[in-house]
Amino acid sequence: MQRRNFIKIAGAIGGMMAANQFNAFGQMYQSTPAPAWYDKTMRWAQLAFVENDPGQCDPDFWLNYFKRIHADGALLSAGGVVAFYPTNIPLHHRSDYLGNTDLVGYLVNGCRKMNMSILLRTDPHAARQEVYDAHPEWIAVSVDGMKRRHWANPELWVTCALGPYNFDFMTRVNAEIMDRFQPDGIFSNRWSGHGICYCEHCQSSFRTFSGGLDLPKSTHNALSTAMPAGDLNDSAYVKYRVWRTGRLKELWFLWDGEIRKKNPARDLFPMAFPINSSPANNPIFSLLINRRGADTFHHGQMPNMRKNFAPQWV
Ligand SMILES: [Zn+2]
Repeated sequence: MQRRNFIKIAGAIGGMMAANQFNAFGQMYQSTPAPAWYDKTMRWAQLAFVENDPGQCDPDFWLNYFKRIHADGALLSAGGVVAFYPTNIPLHHRSDYLGNTDLVGYLVNGCRKMNMSILLRTDPHAARQEVYDAHPEWIAVSVDGMKRRHWANPELWVTCALGPYNFDFMTRVNAEIMDRFQPDGIFSNRWSGHGICYCEHCQSSFRTFSGGLDLPKSTHNALSTAMPAGDLNDSAYVKYRVWRTGRLKELWFLWDGEIRKKNPARDLFPMAFPINSSPANNPIFSLLINRRGADTFHHGQMPNMRKNFAPQWV
């Protein structure tokens, strides 16, 4: 029997009992709160779109697939480097293949009809030429002063994680996604930068923080989002670690706070937080666990929070 039916039946029984002044059973089950989205979702499915998926992939195939595998949560690509819905934010690039369609909206509606939880994914780590042309200061800079091309996709540029691209532009993207789709949360992929950025914002911000120091020199090629390697005997590098962590915390609190202004039941899930790989020792994951009263938090691709450690098949 499904839980909802049980509540209905229990409620009906409670109603009958109430007539006979024996309503404790009914009240007990009627007052059981429905589980929150993060606690009821045991099987997640993720669709990570690429630019030419709109118009080529069949969303009904995926909705049927979710149904067949009994997925009760979906994580769907929505925006960032490419928007898979008709965004109204300037420089938020709509997929060239989107046409008049709304791939995200179609899937969100379909998932909602199946009572699935929905997280929408943003990817802020890269940008196209028109973004570079309009806001060159949003692009990450290497130690030799050159704007950074994307390592795998040479027509894209790598964005600076700690400046106005994330703090201003992506905050507006998150807000539009929340307003348009009301997902249960936003999951941000590759949000925390790739190596040390030497753009004008990072240079001036670090100078202010460190009392006038230059950013530590690093030729780390920075494919990773982890803390860039460096010399722990170098005071600039030691201060850089503190400054970077602080900026990322500031960014997470900004994004999460803006999302929760719209709905306190929602959260911003970062794809890892480069302080400590252990969720228990990670301040952001600890905060999310405490906020939701969960015992565990899986911080990989699927931000599951659970109130117990029961196997997923129970
Ligand atoms: Zn920068």
